Order: sequence, then structure tokens, then C-alpha cells
Amino acid sequence: MSTESLRIVWIYPDLLSTYGDRGNLLILAHRARMRGMPVETLEVRSDQRLPTTADIYLVGGGEDGPQALGAQRLMADGGLHRAAAQGSVVFGVCAGYQLLGRSFFAKGTQCAGLDLLDLHSDRGASRAVGELAGDVDPRLAVPALTGFENHGGRTHLGPEVSPLARVTTGVGNDGVTEGAWRGKLLGTYSHGPALARNPALADLLLRWATGAGQLPPLDDSWPEKLRAERRAAVAARQ
Ligand code: GLN
Repeated sequence: MSTESLRIVWIYPDLLSTYGDRGNLLILAHRARMRGMPVETLEVRSDQRLPTTADIYLVGGGEDGPQALGAQRLMADGGLHRAAAQGSVVFGVCAGYQLLGRSFFAKGTQCAGLDLLDLHSDRGASRAVGELAGDVDPRLAVPALTGFENHGGRTHLGPEVSPLARVTTGVGNDGVTEGAWRGKLLGTYSHGPALARNPALADLLLRWATGAGQLPPLDDSWPEKLRAERRAAVAARQ
């Protein structure tokens, strides 16, 4: 951690904040505070400079126009590149995931991404909309991923990143894999918000940010109920 409190930045709430993705910020702050960690949260609009010394940066989903604008502004700002190079955690969802790669499509045009993750996105034949589930890379020690997806893009991973999960329901990157990670950078197509639906994923980001091997367990009976409900709903449809 850079200071005595955990600093979490929610990037561009004015552009990238679909499907309650801002909930990821609330969940991280809550789960850190429940462990007695002091937390500072900061929402940085697209007309403001990004601080470069935070511990965790969150980028949410967005429609094509705001996604393209967000990527341009992040590129011009340069702060996310500096923070990632210094070892900060970066978590991107959907549009926020695609723009961490080399390129993506928005409104029929190929746009440059930040090139922080070795991947690129093009367009699928149809939108991927609905439940998304998958078995997470065992090295991350996170149980099955659950979420909601709504995207037109398809994402192709290069050799420098690992898939976050193998898809069991839905599409994710391409119907086979979902999301990607390298070092302390991680992206997913999962909304829900992702960290509310997957508290172990929130704890993974907190462990990366703090360097803690383990975190004290929390009472997750409510999120577990929600996860079981979603699993049953998905199973009933298959
Ligand atoms: N605009 C992107 C796409 O449709 C991302 C959508 C989203 O963030 N929900 O693929």
C-alpha cells in the first residue's frame, strides 16, 4: 500500500459506469473497512487528472461513444500507465476491460486502447446478453465466476495474458474464455456488479493491493445466497 490508507480510484464515473459498476468501488471499500483498513475513495471525472499513487484503479462498462472518449482521455492523461507500471491494481469491466487492450471497436471504428493487457477486441455477429459464468483460473483461488454480460465486442487474448475463466454459461471473450489477467491487472465482461456477485474476486484485488497472503474471513452468507440463487436460475434454463 502506498500510504497508511488504501486508496481506490473510480475512473470516469461520467463516462464509464453502466449496470451499477460503481458498486465495485463500494464493495472493495466495504470489505477493506470490515478488516480494519482505512480507505480513501476518489471518483475522478473525465475532465480531471488521474492521481498516479493510488492502490487500486477501477474502470467500468460503457456504451461505444463514452468508451472511445474514455480511452482517448486515459491515453492523453497517462496516469493509468504510470500507476500500472508502479504496481497498482487495475480492474476493468466490459468497456473498461476492452480499453485496457491494444484496440477495440466502437461505432464501427477501430480505436486504440491503452495496451496494458495483451489483447484486442473486435465485433461479434450478435450482442452477448445474459448470464455469464465460468471456472476461474485455479492460480487465483477464486470460486466460479458469476455475472451479467451485455456487449457487442469479442476479445482475443495474446500470449502475455491468461484467461480469467473458462466459460460455462454465456460468451465472455469468445464463448470459450472470459476476461484476462496479468500481474495485478485484471479485466472481465462481468457486471452485476462483478465484485458484489464475486466477493472472492474483490478479496483477490485487496490481497494484490495490500500484499497480504490471506485476509480475515467475512460473513458472506448474503452474497452466498445470491450466488446460489443465480446458479439455480442458470441451471434451470439449461
Ligand atoms: N461498448 C462495448 C461493447 O458493446 C462495451 C459494452 C459494455 O461495457 N457493456 O462491446
